[in-house]
Amino acid sequence: MIEFKNVTKTYANGVKGLNNISIDIQDGEFVSIIGLSGAGKSTFLRSINRLNDISEGEIIIDGKSLTKANKKELKLIRRNIGMIFQHFNLVKKMTVQKNVISGRLGYYSTMKSIFGVFSKEDYQLVNESLELVGLSDKLHSRCDELSGGQQQRVSIARTLVQNSSIILADEPVASLDPITTERIMDDLKRINNEYNRTIIINLHSVELARKYSTRIIGLRNGEVVFDGAAAEATDEV
Ligand code: ADP
Ligand code: ADP
Repeated sequence: MIEFKNVTKTYANGVKGLNNISIDIQDGEFVSIIGLSGAGKSTFLRSINRLNDISEGEIIIDGKSLTKANKKELKLIRRNIGMIFQHFNLVKKMTVQKNVISGRLGYYSTMKSIFGVFSKEDYQLVNESLELVGLSDKLHSRCDELSGGQQQRVSIARTLVQNSSIILADEPVASLDPITTERIMDDLKRINNEYNRTIIINLHSVELARKYSTRIIGLRNGEVVFDGAAAEATDEV
């Protein structure tokens, strides 16, 4: 479970990216964060793995304080949180297989030979994940040979092998066409259903959020203006 307790994030210029937010997200939820540009969606998401430090309040993940965690504790908490970005964050010159297997790195404390440490099981997981996103035939392709949608599916597969129970997706479909978008959302929905991962995704489209998620949190000026069942959200959220 993720708990936000009176969380405020004030940037150096005085802007409140988040303003006194208190919410809980349960395991296995598929939550869409909705709001116009500047509403605080990225700030919200980035607070959950502490890419952003908050200014006031506390965030608790599975009973442990993220806010008070020291370096070592933070590393452990982050191991359980995967992230998918708008621009994929893949190593483009490397193969799909290498990019996906890098999701396993969190399990190895030594990185003497980054790509020598993986086990048979790791490679098996890579194959399974690529099968789920429909890219088995691209195992040995370089990522820069793939379309944007395919690259995003590679990054989903990478998150899957990380085996984190929480997946954060920061506008993962913002630069993709409608058909590719549905494909990506379908993949995330399957990961939510079949692997019971908690998914928290930033989206611009309320329509997409209603179709795929169980819950919608609407933000405006860093405040929660809607929080409820996805089906009940109106276009004005
Ligand atoms: P969204 O993801 O919904 O577009 P953001 O979380 O990126 O919104 O931003 C929320 C507010 O915080 C906006 O007003 C934005 O300009 C501001 N903001 C975001 N990052 C910074 C920063 N590093 N410094 C100052 N203000 C920021
Ligand atoms: P996106 O729309 O893709 O989320 P943004 O333009 O909101 O991208 O933000 C890009 C980067 O700039 C982020 O790291 C964000 O924190 C930072 N940023 C956003 N707004 C501001 C701002 N007003 N001042 C300083 N940095 C900002």
